[in-house]
Amino acid sequence: MSYAPESYDPDNIFAKILRGDLPCHKVFEDDDTFAFMDIMPRTPGHVLVIPKTPCRNMLDASPAQIAAVMATVQKISLAMLEGYGADGITLQQFNEPAGGQEVYHLHFHILPRHEGDTLLPPRTMADADDVAAEAEKIRAALG
Ligand code: AMP
Repeated sequence: MSYAPESYDPDNIFAKILRGDLPCHKVFEDDDTFAFMDIMPRTPGHVLVIPKTPCRNMLDASPAQIAAVMATVQKISLAMLEGYGADGITLQQFNEPAGGQEVYHLHFHILPRHEGDTLLPPRTMADADDVAAEAEKIRAALG
């Protein structure tokens, strides 16, 4: 079977965030990647990591885009364990509508986990002050 990706939509929400056309709570960026808070978090501290260059999802991403994003995912995950107080990390990554994808710019979800916790309900807006406070803690953990 072959995969024929839909064309990349430069007006998807995350492209707008990258351009600064929409606000976000940034926690980290480097030359190739950008990380910010999910506004409908499945756990407190839920972070999204995206490449700065366009690709729809993991299926049309280049090896370089995947490598850059995964390096940032690892860096933030370690900071969550070492400086933020997480006991473990859950990663999520969805591809195409049937795979659960809703925003069509490659992203990995980093969910910091604590012993015995459960995921919050999906599609539920968090209090903006709570998201901002978690972002500050993660930035501090990243040093
Ligand atoms: P999915 O494509 O299924 O991996 O989900 C997209 C994710 O983007 C969901 O977890 C949403 O809560 C999140 N999301 C949607 N809009 C925004 C936004 N403006 N800022 C931060 N996160 C968002």
